[in-house]
Amino acid sequence: MNKSSPLLDVLTRRNWRSILLGAISLSIVLWSAVQAAGTPLSASFTPASPRLGETVVVNIATASSQSTPPTTQATPPTVKVGTKTYPAFNVGKERFRAMIPTTPLEKPGDREATISDNTGKTTVKFPVADRKFAIQRINFSPGKSGVEATELELKQVAAFKATVSPTKLWSGKFIAPNAGKTSSPYGVRRYYNGEFATDYYHRGLDYAGGYGSAVVAPAAGKVVLVGYEKKGFRVHGNVVGVDHGQGLVSIFMHMSKISVEEGQMLAAGDDIGAIGSTGSSTGPHLHWGLYVNAVSVDPVQWRSQSIE
Ligand SMILES: [Zn+2]
Repeated sequence: MNKSSPLLDVLTRRNWRSILLGAISLSIVLWSAVQAAGTPLSASFTPASPRLGETVVVNIATASSQSTPPTTQATPPTVKVGTKTYPAFNVGKERFRAMIPTTPLEKPGDREATISDNTGKTTVKFPVADRKFAIQRINFSPGKSGVEATELELKQVAAFKATVSPTKLWSGKFIAPNAGKTSSPYGVRRYYNGEFATDYYHRGLDYAGGYGSAVVAPAAGKVVLVGYEKKGFRVHGNVVGVDHGQGLVSIFMHMSKISVEEGQMLAAGDDIGAIGSTGSSTGPHLHWGLYVNAVSVDPVQWRSQSIE
């Protein structure tokens, strides 16, 4: 047989194609191994199956156990996901942690975090699962417009949410900031007069404790924002902002009374003030917003999981 049959011809061509594809993927694997072998960086993530709105923690080890003696690294690695770079903080010898916020505005699917420092870089992939968020339909009567935020409150609140201070102040699971039931969950999406609000999601968790009921710190932190309705906080009302450290902050809105001052250190459970209906609010409730690197995340995860 010196003439190949058409069938054999097709098979041979297929074989060559798979051999070629195999060679390409093998070299990609080898190349990644070479890249990773050049640096002592390694990374993992928690929780195992994050969902939209949750905080993803990237745990980084900067030196292999073989290095003798282990060196203490001065420069923390940076963590990049998409176009955003997140800070990493030292959480032990040669261990760092970065917190990546996710929101209801994002699409579910795989994310890749690139971790780099002066020794090189490595990547870790994590999936973000879809999640159903409740829908609310708001109808305005013609001519009726909502309360507009003042320049002062927009500026001060935006600066507060972007707070990233180096010391971790929280510890363990967060406690409820009010004893009342929750009335509106995180992440609710809205239609205004039948039109879907693409940028809106409920950036917090509402508690329906009665007027005057106690508001307490859900975790330790430092009071870095105190704003009053009568001083221009038209939408937020009487508001308290607490810095828990390392890019994690809490905001408490619509309060009737504030019992803390800027600069004050708080332990979990310490009195902050009382529930009210100040600012843009239709009835007494507490709005608790939790922000990770300036992005609103679901506080419920922080109530149920201990992120250290
Ligand atoms: Zn709210």
